[in-house]
Amino acid sequence: HAKLLGKNNFQFYQGNMRNKVNENFEMESMLRKALEQDELLLVYQPQVNASGNNVVGVEALIRWKNEKLGMVSPGEFIPMAEETGLIIPIGEWVIRTACLQNKAWQNQGFEPITMSVNLSIRQFYQSNLAAKVEEILLETGLNPVYLELEITESMAMQADTATKVLNDLKKLGVKIAMDDFGTGYSSLNYLRNFPIDHLKIDQSFIRDISQNEEDQNIITSIIALGHNLNIKLVAEGVETKEQRDFLVENGCDVLQGYYFSRPVEHSEIPAFIRSFLHIN
Ligand code: C2E
Ligand code: MG
Ligand code: MG
Ligand code: MG
Repeated sequence: HAKLLGKNNFQFYQGNMRNKVNENFEMESMLRKALEQDELLLVYQPQVNASGNNVVGVEALIRWKNEKLGMVSPGEFIPMAEETGLIIPIGEWVIRTACLQNKAWQNQGFEPITMSVNLSIRQFYQSNLAAKVEEILLETGLNPVYLELEITESMAMQADTATKVLNDLKKLGVKIAMDDFGTGYSSLNYLRNFPIDHLKIDQSFIRDISQNEEDQNIITSIIALGHNLNIKLVAEGVETKEQRDFLVENGCDVLQGYYFSRPVEHSEIPAFIRSFLHIN
């Protein structure tokens, strides 16, 4: 009995492994074609000013729409893009598309907002990132103050190189946000040395805000820390009125999450910019 079970288990495992390898291989070649075949798109999630309830920015989030695979989320293909190096052309496409879109809204006469773009680690450490960003800004005509680049704590590990890259980016006039703050290898040293405009408090701290006093204390401490360093705070993953009220009462500057809006296609954003949100 045990033998039979063992054998079955083994075959099951092996079959799974084979599928996984084929799947990965196939997915990689499909991802290679995704850029040329126009299968990538950006969706945009509004970021709301805590004091005024108006939209001050959007975060660009990538999606991959493939005929066979359906909608693939970035969590499933960004790691593969990182590994294969495809993240370099994909990342460049993201920055260009996001800048073009933001410029287009401005050309349509809307109040300017900030466009936040996520950088991946390989993209961050590519040799010519600042030059690439500068080229895209010139080409699209977007004023650099309306572009924000999001990095994570993991990118700061090579502190000297990271400082140089960030300073080069800052010289262009763009903004820098530290994403998922509090989940990685946070070091206060980064906050001292890096030119950071925004700290994005990770959604894992926001989730249980109304029940968990420890999370409340962590959040108020991060807000105080940021403000003492002249850094603005963005809360990620705000889903409920309770969470929003707590963050507003405790001085968080900008809020982002399903409570306000899911990430949406570009055509839906003007309505958000135009009308102040009436949410109580
Ligand atoms: P992130 O930058 O921390 O983005 C926030 C994620 O939380 C997004 O997931 C967003 O859809 C989701 N989210 C927003 N509000 C809520 C909420 O109220 N509740 C919950 N549960 N989730 C919320 P998404 O779009 O699947 O992106 C996942 C991650 O993939 C991003 O995390 C970012 O690290 C990465 N990513 C997305 N787009 C890009 C890109 O263009 N380039 C790179 N390098 N990475 C990207
Ligand atoms: Mg982000
Ligand atoms: Mg985040
Ligand atoms: Mg994240």
